This record gives sequence, C-alpha cells and structure tokens, in this order.
Amino acid sequence: MADPRDFPARVLIVGAGPTGSTTALALKKYAPYVQVTLIDKSSFPRDKACGDGLGPGARRTLERLGLTDLLDGFNRPISVGVTGPDGTEAACSGPLIGEKDLSGFVAPRLDFDNRLLQECIRQGVVVRTEERFKELEELATGQIRVISEDLRSSQMLAGTYEFVIAADGAYSAVRRFIKSPTAKKSKTYIAMRSYASISHPSVAVAETIRLDFIDAFLPAYGWCFPVSDGRANIGVGLPVAQLRNGDQSLRQLLDHYYDDLRRRGFKVGSPELVKSHQLPHAAARLRMAYGHVLFLGDAAATINPFSGEGIFYGMAAGVQLAEQLSQVSPGPDANWARELRLFEHAFKRRFRRHFMSSYAVHLIFKSRRWTNKIVRAAAKNREVMATGASIMFDEGTITPRLIFRALGTGVH
Ligand SMILES: Cc1cc2nc3c(=O)[nH]c(=O)nc-3n(C[C@H](O)[C@H](O)[C@H](O)COP(=O)(O)OP(=O)(O)OC[C@H]3O[C@@H](n4cnc5c(N)ncnc54)[C@H](O)[C@@H]3O)c2cc1C
Repeated sequence: MADPRDFPARVLIVGAGPTGSTTALALKKYAPYVQVTLIDKSSFPRDKACGDGLGPGARRTLERLGLTDLLDGFNRPISVGVTGPDGTEAACSGPLIGEKDLSGFVAPRLDFDNRLLQECIRQGVVVRTEERFKELEELATGQIRVISEDLRSSQMLAGTYEFVIAADGAYSAVRRFIKSPTAKKSKTYIAMRSYASISHPSVAVAETIRLDFIDAFLPAYGWCFPVSDGRANIGVGLPVAQLRNGDQSLRQLLDHYYDDLRRRGFKVGSPELVKSHQLPHAAARLRMAYGHVLFLGDAAATINPFSGEGIFYGMAAGVQLAEQLSQVSPGPDANWARELRLFEHAFKRRFRRHFMSSYAVHLIFKSRRWTNKIVRAAAKNREVMATGASIMFDEGTITPRLIFRALGTGVH
C-alpha cells in the first residue's frame, strides 16, 4: 500500500480574504490530509472596501464550520427597509421572513477578516502575511512552483504545491499572470463605501438594513448597514459601464445619497474612511479551473449580479471544495486537475439558477417602472420580500409565484 507521506497534498492559497481563510478552515475540517499554506500581501488587520453585510448564506456557512463565535459582538439587524424610486417604502421585521431565517450580520471587514485569519492560525494553518504572489510555473510532474515576495525583506521565496487556490480578489494577480480572461465592464460593478454617524427621530436605524433604489443608482442601490455605536456603513454602487470620471463621479453619487438620506429626515455625519473597489459578478461566467490552479471568490467573479454580495459565494465555494476533497485519498491515483475541474462543474451547477435569477432581476431593475412595481409588491406581501431577500443574500431563485405576485399590482 502507498505511503501517503510519499504523495503529499500541499496547497497554496493566495489571498486571506473571507474566501481564502474560509477555504483553509474548511480544508482543515473536511480534508485534513491537505497541507495548507495561506499567503496575503497585506499586513492584518487590513481594511477592505465592502458594505460589511453578511447575509444568511454566509451566516449558515460559518455555522456549518462551527465558527459562529467569530460573529460575537457584531450588529445583527432585525429589519429590512427598501425604498423604490417613487418613494415607496417596503419594510419587514423579524429574523424570520415567511418560513426563512434571513437574518445576517454587519461585520466590518477590518475586524471580520482578521478574526477568520486568527482562527486559521489557531487551527494550525501555515499563514504568511506581507507576502505577495509573483509568478507560477507548472512543472513536468504536474506540480506548481510558485514564486512570491516577502514584502518585509524584499526576498523572493519559492515553493512547490500539488495545487494552488487563487482567492486574491477582484484584481487577481494570479489571473493576470496566467493571462486568463477577466470580467468585461458590462459584468462588473464599482462601489464606494464610507462610515458615518446616523440617527432618525422615528426609525430604529441600528436595527434596520436599508436598501435604497433611488433613480440615480438604478439598477443598483444605495445601502445603509448599521454597524454599532450609532454608525453605519453607507455606500453606493453602479455598473462600471455607467461610470464617468472614475472615483470622482462615484464620490458625487455617494454625496447625493447622503443628501437623499438627510432629505428623508436622517441625521447623517460626514463620510469617513471612503473607499472603493470593483465587483466582477457572476454573469461574467469566468472559468475557475486551469489545470492545477483554481480561482475562487472575487477572483472567479462569483459575486451576486444583483446585490453585489460576494462573501457568501466565496466562502460557500471553499466549503464545497473541501467537502469534495474529503472523498479523495492522497495517493498515486489522486488527480488534482480532475478534482478541480469537477469542482467547477458542481459549483456552477449549484448556483446556476440562482445567479441567472439575480442577473434577470438586475436587468429588470434597469427599468424605473418595474423597480417601482416590485418594491410596491414587496411592501404589500412578505413573500415577495422574502424571495427578493433570498435572491439578494442567499440562494433564492425567481419563482412563478413571485412573478404572479409582482404582476398582481398595477404598473404606474
Ligand atoms: C464597496 C463594496 C461593498 C460591498 N458590500 C458587500 C456586502 O455588504 N456583502 C458582501 O457579501 N459582499 C460585498 N462586497 C463584495 C465583497 O467585498 C467581496 O465579494 C469579498 O471581499 C470577496 O472576498 P475574497 O476573499 O474573494 O476577496 P478579497 O476580500 O478581495 O480578498 C483578497 C485578498 O487577496 C490579497 N491579495 C491580492 N493580491 C495578492 C497577491 N498578489 N499576493 C498575495 N495576496 C494578494 C488581498 O490583500 C486580499 O486580502 C462589496 C464590495 C465592494 C467594493
């Protein structure tokens, strides 16, 4: 019988965002034979432009890994408020909408990503921060040789792995290195977040996730996700193709959103820690597996095309991969390239209808008329709200019932 020590399963994960760290933790749990090394060019804790919203899918993924304590102390809003372009307000309270527990958290990334990374270290993952991926080469043996740079000493480091997981985000250096296609502008959002103090005389701001589909943002929205201490993560996004003058016009949109909130009676402080980043979304349908290299998370453009949520899909991919690899014995017959290819098929099969539904809703929300109609339907019917929320933040799909309910209100 083959000695497993003769057939190591060494994997390098590039990028310690939620995708990379969760994948490392899932491999520890489900495929402990894999020897994981996790590198990131940043020094942690590090900030990341994000709305900080962890939806029900992300919460369940952490529950599955037995890591819910990582969410301790983060705000857990219990209500959702949605505004349509004509000013219609749809509101819903309680973590359970219909039969579904759609509750989530608002977890500032500076803290959340660091908690995940510290958990990786605690569980024995080899973690090296301030180390930048530079290049890779597929050896005749099928293994991957990776060169990275220790940013503290400027020293080049080399390592050999059975496979590499590129979880290095929207501007993936690994994807650029292997010259694989990236998402087109028409399949990419850009979004800007800020933090500010916020209150309202009659709205429980700390308890409510706000999504505002006002004219200037369609088919995207402005968000106000309460963090803690009377502050919220407030931001705006829009398709890159709609953007003029880069960050400048994004900043104008953000200021416009602040003005809009003030006009509606919110007392909002000045925007702080303003930061933007791109969001390549799942309608880009990028290839994930290239031989012994697999792209996950934003590096694979698995962001929800309607909501811009990406954390859940990156985390879910890591868990699904680890579960699949739990069935593999690391011996002479292990065929990593085949496993990565099979994973890509399975992941895409799992999310195909969901991503198609969220892309369809994104297209529908280009129309002001239809956006009004759907927000009105959500205001009248909790089921529409629940389905909408699960298309945005979970694995929901458009159902005939949803179409019927949406069509059931008059178009104005
Ligand atoms: C403004 C904004 C708001 C958003 N709001 C939400 C939200 O509320 N909820 C949600 O779910 N999603 C949201 N998203 C999307 C979400 O931020 C991403 O989907 C998520 O960060 C993806 O995680 P990731 O781990 O794949 O990539 P990232 O979080 O980008 O992590 C990639 C990591 O790779 C590292 N890295 C990059 N290059 C290298 C290299 N060469 N060598 C080594 N390391 C490298 C980086 O330092 C980084 O730590 C938002 C995005 C934006 C821009």
